[in-house]
Amino acid sequence: MTTFLATWREPGETAVETAWNARKAGSDLRTCIEHGLSACELDPRFLAIGLGSLPNADGELELDAAMMDGADLSAGAVCAMRGIVPAITVARQVMEKTPHVMLAGDQARRFAITQGHKPRNLITEEIARRYEEWRAGVVPDEYIHSTAELQHADTVTMLGLESTPSGPHTVAASATSGLAWKLPGRVGDSPIVGAGIYADDEVGCAGATGLGEELWKACASFRTVEAMRRGLSPQEACEDTIRHMLRRQKHAADMACVVLALGKDGQFGAATTDGTFHLWACQDGNISVHEHTALTL
Ligand code: ASP
Repeated sequence: MTTFLATWREPGETAVETAWNARKAGSDLRTCIEHGLSACELDPRFLAIGLGSLPNADGELELDAAMMDGADLSAGAVCAMRGIVPAITVARQVMEKTPHVMLAGDQARRFAITQGHKPRNLITEEIARRYEEWRAGVVPDEYIHSTAELQHADTVTMLGLESTPSGPHTVAASATSGLAWKLPGRVGDSPIVGAGIYADDEVGCAGATGLGEELWKACASFRTVEAMRRGLSPQEACEDTIRHMLRRQKHAADMACVVLALGKDGQFGAATTDGTFHLWACQDGNISVHEHTALTL
């Protein structure tokens, strides 16, 4: 049995379909998820991930990505990396080829080049136009999630589960350009182990997307995995985390904060502090989309 989950209505379908195609071709779980996220990073239609996504306040793209393997808690990440896609591939290379968990900024890019990645301009004409509009004050100076026009704009977080002869195996990963118009150097939850992703085969895995500052303060993914360890179902665990955030963090509903979880038995769930969230699932090739509306206290 193999299950993939991926976030948000538009990119999520591309992510799970690509991951499943890689699975059918015989790829391992890490590779399936890497392919799922890479497909989104390389598609300029998706405005918050990889090539052609919305830049920081200087008009530059700074990408974040991370992967964690629940088999032994190994993890790798890059943050604020410019000019290299797919960032998820570099994050995986940090995990597999270095003794470190995270490389940042110019040094992440330098490492990527040593691994054979070629720097490139990630700003498309469309993005240059949107940046100039933002600078001119034509579009609201707000987080991208709050502008209906920019509905293709969100981090893609993926969770994967497979049965193996030695038991369930999980991988969690995410890739993003972070919040649009962010201060240069800002890093959100997505590449942070415990905040944006977490995986432990003893329990399952969890991920987050949305307002990174709040998700990070909540250690949202770790909190959700630990709630499952205490015996909550994945859906209950996500709701527990979101209710904790709503209770303790006054900005938790300023923008959507979403958590998603996949238990080692294949059950899954998600919850959000605001708006409507779509979670894509692929269970042995059966693809479905699940709508979640905001919780209240
Ligand atoms: N969580 C991301 C960040 O704060 C944004 C997103 O999910 O769209 O960088």
